[in-house]
Amino acid sequence: MRIAVVGGGIGGLTAAHALVAAGIDAHVFEALPRAGGVVGTSTADGFVREHAASSFLGGPPRGALALCKQLGVAVEQASPRASRRWIYLDGKLRALPRNPLELARSDLLTWRGKLELLREPLRRTRGHDNGDESMHAFAARRLGAEAARAIVAPFVTGVFAADAHDISLEAGFPRLAALEAQGGLVRGLARQVARTAFARVVGKRSSTTPRGLWAPRGGLGSLVDALARDLGTRVKLAMPIRKLAPDPRGVRVDDELWDGVVLAVPAQDAGALVVDIPDLTSRLAVFERAPTALVYLGYPAAAAPRAANGFGALVAAGEEARVLGIVFESVVWPDRAPAGQVLLRCIFGGARDRDALALDDAGLIAQATRDVAAVLGITGATAHASVIRWTRGVAQYPVGHRDRVRAAVTAARTHRIVLAGADYRGPGINDLCADADIVVDEVRAWG
Ligand SMILES: Cc1cc2nc3c(=O)[nH]c(=O)nc-3n(C[C@H](O)[C@H](O)[C@H](O)COP(=O)(O)OP(=O)(O)OC[C@H]3O[C@@H](n4cnc5c(N)ncnc54)[C@H](O)[C@@H]3O)c2cc1C
Repeated sequence: MRIAVVGGGIGGLTAAHALVAAGIDAHVFEALPRAGGVVGTSTADGFVREHAASSFLGGPPRGALALCKQLGVAVEQASPRASRRWIYLDGKLRALPRNPLELARSDLLTWRGKLELLREPLRRTRGHDNGDESMHAFAARRLGAEAARAIVAPFVTGVFAADAHDISLEAGFPRLAALEAQGGLVRGLARQVARTAFARVVGKRSSTTPRGLWAPRGGLGSLVDALARDLGTRVKLAMPIRKLAPDPRGVRVDDELWDGVVLAVPAQDAGALVVDIPDLTSRLAVFERAPTALVYLGYPAAAAPRAANGFGALVAAGEEARVLGIVFESVVWPDRAPAGQVLLRCIFGGARDRDALALDDAGLIAQATRDVAAVLGITGATAHASVIRWTRGVAQYPVGHRDRVRAAVTAARTHRIVLAGADYRGPGINDLCADADIVVDEVRAWG
C-alpha cells in the first residue's frame, strides 16, 4: 500500500515512522523547507530555545521516551531542582504543595478550601451516562471551588493555554476521567497503585518504566532530526499539498493517485485541502489551534533569585500579569543558558488571551519583562529577549470534543483518509507518538 502523509510535524512524522515500521510504503509531504512543524530547537545569544513542546513525561510504553530510545536520541531527565512549582494568585507567588504537610502550611487555599479538597474521596462520582463536562466543573465538583480556581485552572492553562471552563474533562484529561470512573481521584489512584504493585509481583509489568519529565538532550529538535533521518527520502520538504480528491481507487493528492492519505496538517488548514469532500470540510471546521507566543528572556542569575529553583510559575486567570506561565527553562534543563545566566520561557496568548498576539514582538517583550518583574521580582536589563509565535498554536479540546472527533474521523474514513496530529486524540508529544499506532491500525483496516 502507498500512503501519502500530508504534514511533516511530529504528528505526520511519527505516523509515517510507524507505518514504515509496519511494512507500509509511506511518504511525507511537508509544505515548509524543514520538518517538525511547531517543534524545533534553536540557539540565540547562547540560549537554547524550544519553539513549542519542550518536554514529555516518561512512563507511557509507546510514548516519546520509548521513541527516543528506539531512534538512538540521547535523553535527559529534568533537574531535581525543578520539582517545586509556583502559582501566582491574588498578586502573590505561592508554592504548590507537594505533600499533606505542605498543604497544611500552604497559603494557596484557606482552611475551608483545604478541608474541601480533603473531602474528595468521600464525594460520590458522577457516573458515565451524564456526558462530558468542563475541567472547571469537574474540579469544582470533586475538589471544591477554591482548589478549582487556585490549582486546577492554572494547570489547565499550563497544558491548553485555555480557561478550565472551556476544556473537556474526557478529551483533555482522560486519566482524570478514568480515575473518577474508578471511584474518585484518591480511590482510583489507590486502585491503580495496588494493581501496578500486584502486576509487578506476578511479573506482568516492568518495574523499571522511567517516570518523571524528560527531553532529548539539547532539545526536541533532535527528535525531529532523528525521525527525518530515519525516514530519509520518504520526507519531501517544501512540498505544499493543495488538494485531496476522492477516487474510487484511493485518494488523489494533487492529481497523483495514492492508496490512502494520513492528513496530519492542522484541522484549520486541512479543511481547505478537502473542499471536494464537503461532509469532511464541515466537520474539520470545528477544530481550533489557539495562537500562542513564547517570549524567551535571559537574565544574569544574580538578578533572578526567585527563578533559581523550581519548574516555573503558572499565573491564575484575572491577575494583572498577562503571561499565562513562566518556565524556569535553565533550571529544568541546566545546559540551556550560558554560565551565570538564567533563561525564562514566558507563554502568551492561547484561548485565554487571544488578543495577546496582536502585540508585535517589541510589545510582547515589553509585556513579558513587566510580568516577570511583577511575578518574580526580576528587574534590570535582559541578556537576551526573543519571540517565537504560532498562528496555529495549542490545539483546543472543548466540551464535546470526542464526539466531534468521532464524526470527523468517520467522515474521513469513508474516503480512505486518516486524521492525525494534535487536533484529535491528544495534543502532547506523548499523545502523538501513541497516536501513530492508531493510524497504523486504521490504514491496515483498508486491507
Ligand atoms: C507553544 C507551545 C508549547 C507546547 N509545549 C508542549 C510541551 O511542553 N509538551 C508537549 O507534549 N506538547 C507541547 N505542545 C504541543 C505540541 O508541540 C503540538 O501539539 C504538536 O507538536 C503538534 O504537532 P502536529 O504535527 O499535530 O502539528 P504541526 O506541528 O502544526 O505540524 C503540521 C505540519 O503540517 C504542515 N502543513 C500545513 N499545511 C500543509 C500542506 N498544505 N501541505 C503540506 N504540509 C502542510 C505544516 O507546515 C506543519 O509542518 C506545545 C505546543 C505549543 C504551540
